[in-house]
Amino acid sequence: MLLTITNTATPATDLGYLLHKNPARLQSFPLSFGEAHVFYPEASNERCTAALLLDVDPVGLVRNRRGPAGEGGTLDQYVNDRPYVASSFLSVAIARVLASALSGKSKGRPELTEVPLPLEARLSVLPCRGGEAFLRRLFEPLGYTVTTQPHELDAKFPEWGSSAYYTVSLRANTRLRDLLTHLYVLVPVLDNEKHYWVGDDEVEKLLRHGSGWLGTHPEREQITNRYLKHRRDLAREALARLIDEESPNPDQVERARNTEEEQIERPLNLNEQRINAVVAALKSCGAKRVVDLGCGEGKLLRTLFEDRAFDEMVGVDVSHRALEIATERLHLERLPARQRERISLIQGSLMSRDKRLSGFDAATVIEVIEHLDQARLAAFERVLFEFAKPKAIVMTTPNVEYNVKFETLPAGKMRHKDHRFEWTRLQFQSWAQAQADQYGYNVRFLPVGAEDELVGSPTQMAIFIA
Ligand code: SAH
Repeated sequence: MLLTITNTATPATDLGYLLHKNPARLQSFPLSFGEAHVFYPEASNERCTAALLLDVDPVGLVRNRRGPAGEGGTLDQYVNDRPYVASSFLSVAIARVLASALSGKSKGRPELTEVPLPLEARLSVLPCRGGEAFLRRLFEPLGYTVTTQPHELDAKFPEWGSSAYYTVSLRANTRLRDLLTHLYVLVPVLDNEKHYWVGDDEVEKLLRHGSGWLGTHPEREQITNRYLKHRRDLAREALARLIDEESPNPDQVERARNTEEEQIERPLNLNEQRINAVVAALKSCGAKRVVDLGCGEGKLLRTLFEDRAFDEMVGVDVSHRALEIATERLHLERLPARQRERISLIQGSLMSRDKRLSGFDAATVIEVIEHLDQARLAAFERVLFEFAKPKAIVMTTPNVEYNVKFETLPAGKMRHKDHRFEWTRLQFQSWAQAQADQYGYNVRFLPVGAEDELVGSPTQMAIFIA
């Protein structure tokens, strides 16, 4: 298995500093599955190529139970493609042997690590499950020029057609660390063979190495699924967190769209009715300490704050800008100390378990769930019902059945461009009931806003009691 990386920016031998490997020497590194060698087939001022040669020991793999499982004692465990192709073993080797380059460090030329260089990576044999088209879909969005040479299954039998193996060249003007990171993540994804490392910390590894590019990659779902070897629980968690980290500036998106939604709903004064309904529900549960999840600009918090029935309230939102506006609306900076202690705002994500969200009498989730796509909703369910676990939860979301009644809303459109879904009463109620059953809550439903006989009320509310 051979990977070469060529730099053509003079002095090309700077590649040696970046890789932390001297071009004049051959270096070998023992690994659990064989041996890695680094050497330079060429090293001139104009052109410098570093080679990473992996010598995978198939017998060692069997001994360590890391190769393909040999079902019923078949030869498969001894005779397979692992020693010859780029696979997750290459990623392991990159992480071990080229660790500092992968993390963007260089002792000799620290300033170089941030500089895009004209680099070419060549992989002598890359298994591409999903074919050349998939290979291109993985690398081209990252700015690579991809050249491939397919290999026949067997030259003696051309009618067998081509194999899944390609010799691949990837060229781009890129930082070395990015090239290594892309290879680290995407080679095992292309190979899609069982590798031995899939465990919970793989999610962290994927997120770390995917930071800055994977969240916006058009194939992020496939990449995540395959990387985590179709462990759907892990893939779901990773995707939720990826999307969360990479979502385009939440501040801008939300502000522009909130105005649109308000205009559609304004004739009903729905916002005020919603807040009143939520406050009444909170009081009916006797809640004194409330956390408002996805508090936005703090409309509900302000009402709670002005009401002596509530001792303490915390607002949480991912949007920094929304929290700034909330700070202003609530005059937080001018409050007397005792009042100031009743309220706090935290910037945080509803996708990650957070100790600061637990221990409340009640949580409010007002017009938030419809902003979460399915993967994020699944993560949020656990954050809310399993980890934050308030005694009561008051949740609202639009009732999509009512949309036909909004004169300014074109048929079939949602109220807000950022809504990922708007649910019918049946959809909301069955989802909420399932959560209640799973996490040990009782749930009841109330309409908010004038109820229409046929389509119900504009907003639907669920009240969960532990
Ligand atoms: N509850 C407020 C705001 C609703 S708009 C109100 O009724 O006025 C939805 C809010 O959810 C936005 O402020 C948005 O920033 C926030 N939000 C969306 N995804 C989030 C996430 N993953 N973590 C925290 N907040 C999020």
